[in-house]
Amino acid sequence: MGIDLEALYTDLHRHPELSFQETRTAGVIARALTELGIEHEEGIGRTGVVAILRNPSPEGTGNPVVWLRADMDGLPVEELTGLPYASTARGTDPSGGEVPVMHACGHDMHVTALLGALERLAGTTAEWSGTIVAVFQPAEEFGAGSRAMIADGVLERFPAPDVVLGQHVTPLPAGLIGVRPGTQMSASDGLTVTLHGRGGHGSRPHSTVDPVVMAAATVMRLQTIVSREIDPRDVAVVTVGSIHAGLKNNIIPAEATLQLSLRYPDDDARDRVLQKVERVIRAEAAASGAEREPTIVTDHTLPPTINDEAATARVTAAFRRAYGEAAVIDPGMFTGSEDVSWFARDSGAPLVFWFWGGVDPELYARAGAEGTIDRDVPTNHSPYFAPVLHPTIERGVENLVVAAREWLG
Ligand SMILES: [Zn+2]
Ligand SMILES: [Zn+2]
Repeated sequence: MGIDLEALYTDLHRHPELSFQETRTAGVIARALTELGIEHEEGIGRTGVVAILRNPSPEGTGNPVVWLRADMDGLPVEELTGLPYASTARGTDPSGGEVPVMHACGHDMHVTALLGALERLAGTTAEWSGTIVAVFQPAEEFGAGSRAMIADGVLERFPAPDVVLGQHVTPLPAGLIGVRPGTQMSASDGLTVTLHGRGGHGSRPHSTVDPVVMAAATVMRLQTIVSREIDPRDVAVVTVGSIHAGLKNNIIPAEATLQLSLRYPDDDARDRVLQKVERVIRAEAAASGAEREPTIVTDHTLPPTINDEAATARVTAAFRRAYGEAAVIDPGMFTGSEDVSWFARDSGAPLVFWFWGGVDPELYARAGAEGTIDRDVPTNHSPYFAPVLHPTIERGVENLVVAAREWLG
């Protein structure tokens, strides 16, 4: 009896859950693993699930150990795809507000593909040897799920990886794989900055330190970091995604809050950009006559997703043998970020993380011919993001099997 992967996917898609709230999803995964007879544990890193498939080699070592990782969480996005299996789910975000929820990043596809791959590998144990650890990770969208699993002992409680493999569905034509050695995705930090002024009456600005003007000057000055201080040949992003101050026109508030999203390709660039951002924030506060230093809090830190050169060469060659030369491309570095690489960094194992296409190839070709890909092909996090079911599901399964078998024989 096999898993009906299309039914599994559409069920997960209808029932997305926010980060660290993936309890129903974890239940669906655990049930499928039980049906497959695969040993597993729930509640790792709050809502994560880990499965182990052991197949001792003739020497009985159980090596190599291959980790296959899929993330599980949805996003606070109202689905507008109009699909028969579209989500109408609501959830409660960390601030307590009710929000729509959608699998707008395709993590439902990742879970489906990993369960499909486990079924295939469990059914072909005579053909390979080693150990597979399947990691169903919560809260990727918080950049916190892999750290939570590591804090919960995932690297000690389960066989440690010889290689970490993972994949993300992406708006490339279905059938295409994007993978590159080296930096595949940027590093990222999220900062919350509180600028402290001194509040007072709107008619008496001279008796206050106005944090609104301080914030405005800070936001503008931050824009000069990328345009004036970073080598034009390098990649960096400084985005102020949120700015809040004040409640009423005739009150000068006591503080202003900024939220920043920063991106860079490596740790060196990270150090340089962070130092410049901090310098600008502190200097603008000083220029405003602030009596207290600004408070700068790091909400999350994501390392760059760096694909190991040798391991990536092996996986790329395996994909080319399976799908043909033209089916595997180098998509360049993405300025999105991922927390998958903590598993590889903390264990010292090589990482290979690739993207696989989920867009109807005809639609993609048409948009390409008309020069409207950016408008007509919805990306991850869009309310219209909707991978085609086939062959995206089958390819997702096959990718994991092909890549894992490269190590397992
Ligand atoms: Zn995402
Ligand atoms: Zn994602």
